[in-house]
Amino acid sequence: MVDPKELKSESVLTHPCGPEESGEAKVVAAARRVQAVSPGTRIEVFKGGVEALPADAFSEVDAVLLATDNAAAEIEAGQRCLHLGRPLIHAAVQPEMLVAQVRCFGNEDAQGACPACGLGPADYELLRRQVAFSCAGNVVAGGAPARAASRTLCSLAADLAVNQLVRLVLGLGVPVSNSIVEYCGYTNATSVSPLRRNPDCRCDHTRFERVRLEGPLGGATVDALVGAAGLASANGLLLIRVSDHAWVERANVRVPDLPVHQFVRRGALRGAPAAAARFSRRNFSFVRTSRRTNW
Ligand SMILES: [Zn+2]
Repeated sequence: MVDPKELKSESVLTHPCGPEESGEAKVVAAARRVQAVSPGTRIEVFKGGVEALPADAFSEVDAVLLATDNAAAEIEAGQRCLHLGRPLIHAAVQPEMLVAQVRCFGNEDAQGACPACGLGPADYELLRRQVAFSCAGNVVAGGAPARAASRTLCSLAADLAVNQLVRLVLGLGVPVSNSIVEYCGYTNATSVSPLRRNPDCRCDHTRFERVRLEGPLGGATVDALVGAAGLASANGLLLIRVSDHAWVERANVRVPDLPVHQFVRRGALRGAPAAAARFSRRNFSFVRTSRRTNW
């Protein structure tokens, strides 16, 4: 579960929570509820935006379920799922029209749609102004009109999303990939429509190939990564980005400028004191990353 925000007093309108949980991180409150219902379920919680996750955070998941009022988060999650070939299901509401909708992006290949495929210049202008469309109705940033979604509409969208998730992962019924299902509360009409890739989409629809590295990352060299990716004979510039790790080229120890040539976690590099503590057993007093490599 990933979310950067805390519950507020008005969250009782759209969340399964009580007023006493106001101020608590949404992911913590939700995790506690899930754990109470299903003690055997393993829950991983991240309080922060999806963009702050490591690049490979979704690489092993069966599917990503997205329920955000933030277009930037939709694009970011969509881009990551595109690259990694992971299914993405996006639940949303349009309170003005009493519409609950669920979009399902299977990402089986690079030909499918993504959340950004449906965005036009006006949407990107709203994105540039960081306009937020809050469901709470009274907390609106960037000049968007206030709107309030009913709890029934939100829970309906969630139920539809879970139903699509189960069908997608288990392959039940008519394929749901690259489709949108909508329910309108004014007309009681339900519609299912295809989602198609927009050739002018601003997202990169490139599908990454995933290769598993033998052994721990800390024991691997850059050459080993390049070799594992099958790029050892490639010509030209290679950009290597390793999530939450950095390549330590050299370190100043008793013998200055000692070659290290090892990946280390980024947390160990934040400031000299932390680095010194992290590497005290090796008598490292200072570490630095190579300037020749982009991370
Ligand atoms: Zn797209």
